Amino acid sequence: MSSHQTPVTRSTEPPVDMLPVEDAVDRILSFCPRLPSESRAIDDSVGQVLATDITAPFDIPPHDNTAMDGYAVQSRSTDGATESNPVHLQVIGELAAGYLYNGEVGAGQAVRIMTGAPVPDGADTIVPFEETDEYGLRAPGQEHETIKDVGILKAAGPGSNIRRRGEDVRQGQQVLDAGTVLRGPEVAVLASLGVASVDVIRRPRVAILSTGDELLSPGDAPAPGKIYDSNSYGLSALVTQYGGIPQRFGIAQDTIPALTARINEALETCDLVITSAGVSRGDFDVVKEVLAREGAIDFWTVKMKPGKPLAFGEFEAPDGRRVPHIGLPGNPVSSLLAFELFGRLAIYQMMGRQPQPRPIVRAVADDDIVNTDWRRVYARATLNQDSDGTWHARLTGPQGSGVLTSMALANGYAVCPEDRERIRAGEECDVIMVDWDHPLD
Ligand code: AMP
Ligand code: MG
Repeated sequence: MSSHQTPVTRSTEPPVDMLPVEDAVDRILSFCPRLPSESRAIDDSVGQVLATDITAPFDIPPHDNTAMDGYAVQSRSTDGATESNPVHLQVIGELAAGYLYNGEVGAGQAVRIMTGAPVPDGADTIVPFEETDEYGLRAPGQEHETIKDVGILKAAGPGSNIRRRGEDVRQGQQVLDAGTVLRGPEVAVLASLGVASVDVIRRPRVAILSTGDELLSPGDAPAPGKIYDSNSYGLSALVTQYGGIPQRFGIAQDTIPALTARINEALETCDLVITSAGVSRGDFDVVKEVLAREGAIDFWTVKMKPGKPLAFGEFEAPDGRRVPHIGLPGNPVSSLLAFELFGRLAIYQMMGRQPQPRPIVRAVADDDIVNTDWRRVYARATLNQDSDGTWHARLTGPQGSGVLTSMALANGYAVCPEDRERIRAGEECDVIMVDWDHPLD
């Protein structure tokens, strides 16, 4: 180690009993089955996952139709047309999108037609206005006069500017597969098929409960020795962001009866319980105790920093459902980071999404990232590309597990692996992209 760097003291041997992050993820996911489906109006379905395949009941488009405003004609009628020697056709009618032409286009005839209107019988091509003398025909102020005759300025081949029936979707075709996450384009496809509601996997109802005698709710008057409960608000926001439905159960005092009562209340309706605090080794850390008495507990220390202590287990709801419980650490950054790593994936899996990790980019660390005790360090960072396209990760400030503001400034987590003592400034590291579309500098 060179002399200008802060010395790092760490034990020579890694501790044996800490669970790697990936193993913790696997164990949690094994308790989070996908929820049943529900029917939802397509308007209300964005972000949810299709429970069934969707098959087209008809062709799209349902008719051959025009891709341009112009004239529907027989291509033969335009043979030899040029700008200096236009071919004149008789205009026998006009057709807007949404209507069918009641008649047939014969030789030497044309129907004036608007984009999207079905191609009339007899016509096999569309001559766009730009290739006719249409623009010269009507003086300003005479736009509504009926056109009787149009000059075609260019010969048209058969099939030009026609969108064919079924060119997008064929009747009977499987258009969307079960398991598809509905975004804007998928919702549009459903609407184009005339589908008003769909079967999707239900969103999990996530109970959020803070524990701690020191906690006040925002809106309460400040009081000596007390702090505001930030965890339940941050967690509830993240539950919404990741697709779950947060159900807040307030603040439980640090006693076993108080916490038990709140958890029992939550179990009536929720699919997942998230608590914060009460999982470290302090005297009043009652979450572990309640989980052990009322449910089945697994208590881990996870090889990550911040966020080492994690209680995990499951309860049985009054109706017999098994409800997983993630007992997050109390320190605000630890709590939100552990939820990002574990809670997000639990929600995804329950709502039928692939529990995929976030994308990772290789970036140059602009600051040292120090690892003191063999855990994987997630350092709050901003990710930016410099002018030659190289990604850089800059730390957003002090990395203590209570320093929330440096989390609010980050759009990524720069990782120092458990087996490295330090990532030096200028070295490359993995950076987990969180909200990569949230620009920060
Ligand atoms: P604990 O796990 O109960 O020992 O809590 C660890 C630290 O997190 C303590 O400093 C608590 O005051 C703090 N803490 C616990 N719960 C919350 C919360 N809901 N919001 C903000 N800080 C909290
Ligand atoms: Mg506490």
